[in-house]
Amino acid sequence: MAQIDDLPPLRDVIREHGLDARKSLGQNFLLDLNLTLKIARAAGDLTDATVLEVGPGPGGLTRALLVAGAKKVVAVEKDRRCLPVLAEIAARYPGRLEIIEGDALEVDLTAIAAGEPLKIVANLPYNVGTQLLLQWIASSEWPPVWSSLTLMFQKEVAERIVASPGSKAYGRLGVLAGWRTNAELLFDISPKAFTPPPKVTSAIVHLTPRVEPLACPLKALEQVTAAAFGQRRKMLRASLKSLCPDAEDRIVAAGLEPTRRAEEISVEGFVELAKAFRAEAG
Ligand code: SAM
Repeated sequence: MAQIDDLPPLRDVIREHGLDARKSLGQNFLLDLNLTLKIARAAGDLTDATVLEVGPGPGGLTRALLVAGAKKVVAVEKDRRCLPVLAEIAARYPGRLEIIEGDALEVDLTAIAAGEPLKIVANLPYNVGTQLLLQWIASSEWPPVWSSLTLMFQKEVAERIVASPGSKAYGRLGVLAGWRTNAELLFDISPKAFTPPPKVTSAIVHLTPRVEPLACPLKALEQVTAAAFGQRRKMLRASLKSLCPDAEDRIVAAGLEPTRRAEEISVEGFVELAKAFRAEAG
């Protein structure tokens, strides 16, 4: 396997530190440093950015981010077994790698950014990946503290994030992502690239904040999308009836035909629905 730096190969690092992968932590490690470099480069120019990496594990992507020139990497890892390896990487790149032991769901992005542009890059643990994405999208300030997200998901989840109306993958996740971001699927990664190999193909998604944000209350958007896609084959007038008795009038007020189905409604259409139903959602 090709070298990208003068640190030991990841296979040796994992063996020497006894980092057998744990399913409970969503651990599937990437050992090919050329592949991790491809992911790091997909995040664009990192030379002026602080990069937040969730779940560095044995450090394959972390090393690539540093080789790609990231000004600073802040890596949040829940598994303390990985800390000594990460400390070795930090020693190789003085002042450029900060390790936080903890849960990425609980970190303060504003404190991590410390006034610098923040890019988030991660091979996400599958068990908290969607939850993290929704947390970053739901940021109370907009534009958010982050300027881009370059994230690995299971391909099926990635397809739902970037899905357009009319496609089978289009649903709540696509509407919430499309509400605040431009999301693009960049490339697939075969299960064979991981140790241990997961059952399914993965994919990299790149998201940037929408320049023109679509204003509506998140809670209302969550409610209308949950109700509409919860019964995606039904017409809106039936699926949204559970939210309030005058649902049909509100759908018309949103400028939509009550006979349309959830999967035909654009992100902008859902934003209008959220505004029309906001009184119900609170
Ligand atoms: N970045 C490494 C790579 O690409 O080989 C490891 C990726 S592995 C899919 C996910 C990593 O996230 C694991 O190292 C795991 O311990 C860590 N992790 C799981 N849950 C976490 C959480 N809530 N917060 C921070 N890290 C977490």
